[in-house]
Amino acid sequence: MINVDKIRKDFPILNREINGKPLVYFDNAATSQTPQQVIDVIVDYYTNHNANIHRGVHALSQEATDLYEDARRKIQQHFNALHSHEIIMTSGTTHGINLVANGFSSLLQKDDEVLVSALEHHSNIVPWQMLCERTGAKLKVIPMNANGELVMSAYDELLSDKTKLVFVNHISNALGTINPIKYIIDKAHEFGAAVLVDGAQSCPHIKPDVQALDVDFYVVSAHKMCGPTGVGMLYGKEAWLKKLPPYQGGGEMIDQVTFEHTTYAGLPHKFEAGTPNISGGVAFGAAIDYMNHIGFDNIAAYEHELLVYATEKLAAIEGLKIYGVAQEKTSVISFNIEGIHPYDIGTILDKMGIAVRTGHHCAQPIMDFYKIPGTVRASFAFYNTHAEIDALVAGVKKAKMMLS
Ligand SMILES: *Cc1c(COP(=O)(O)O)cnc(C)c1O
Repeated sequence: MINVDKIRKDFPILNREINGKPLVYFDNAATSQTPQQVIDVIVDYYTNHNANIHRGVHALSQEATDLYEDARRKIQQHFNALHSHEIIMTSGTTHGINLVANGFSSLLQKDDEVLVSALEHHSNIVPWQMLCERTGAKLKVIPMNANGELVMSAYDELLSDKTKLVFVNHISNALGTINPIKYIIDKAHEFGAAVLVDGAQSCPHIKPDVQALDVDFYVVSAHKMCGPTGVGMLYGKEAWLKKLPPYQGGGEMIDQVTFEHTTYAGLPHKFEAGTPNISGGVAFGAAIDYMNHIGFDNIAAYEHELLVYATEKLAAIEGLKIYGVAQEKTSVISFNIEGIHPYDIGTILDKMGIAVRTGHHCAQPIMDFYKIPGTVRASFAFYNTHAEIDALVAGVKKAKMMLS
């Protein structure tokens, strides 16, 4: 069970007023808010332990290294990776995807095929397009239907011996659809294709188990799950990470350097060139602790309750259309009101202290599918309340009155 009044006390920002109104924060799919427990870890790091990691013999450097490597082990345990060296610390989901896409440049050939889903964030489309330009591989799209679900029969038909890679998000940021990734992974493996799952939207809501999924690569951003911005993780199966060449060259990723030849460090350091976001990594570990303390079963049950409540209230507004009505979805509601631009609704809601996102949500192909310029997106977290949803519904009704 979620004690939302108690939880809200952990998030200082929820006390803010915006335009003289209490903040209602419904932009959680863009970034989540940060609890005091995580803020404290960042402050403590810079107050007491700041040093560069892995290199120093001095005490602070070793403390910083221990804190950072403890965080890596927490991340490993949370996502149930077999080895801690399968966890590559990144600057976020985008970085993780680019790292893998870059690595596959040397593994793909002309006329190989890679499959993307129609429900992707731009960061899980563009790096692969760039990869295809470099290699001559072909990008094919797993289509979606009007409910915002991927069409699995079409996926089955797209797969062939030419398929080398499949990349798909676990949960769509624009619509909230939970994709059948276990099916997608198992099917791809029948054809020997590797699968990368973009978990940026799943990590705030569920606890993925990379071994049970048998996924080849899984990427997340800490800031979507109560951690800081600019840090995330790439999980990769050991065998794949060994096969992929390094992404960036620099300090920390080498074994021996001469002007004639350089040999690379082992995992995970081969992919971690340069000084990382150390405090961010440590705070990522703290965010995982925080969310596990609340409990992902509790989070999922409570957010589902918010989703059902908000869907019912919003759908009752005349002229309001919800995009993305998948059987399996998380607490994201994308909607429009007939004849009104989403941006105008967002602007009026902001005047009332309500933060929603408007636009294409970095998923223009989905908007093109529905032939709309964008949507208003309200996305809920475990610290949101039914009363806040009532405020949103009242705000949308008022915006509709003012604009129509
Ligand atoms: C937020 C998000 C990303 C990008 O994450 P960054 O932290 O900006 O790298 C990618 N995919 C999905 C589904 C997202 O929600």
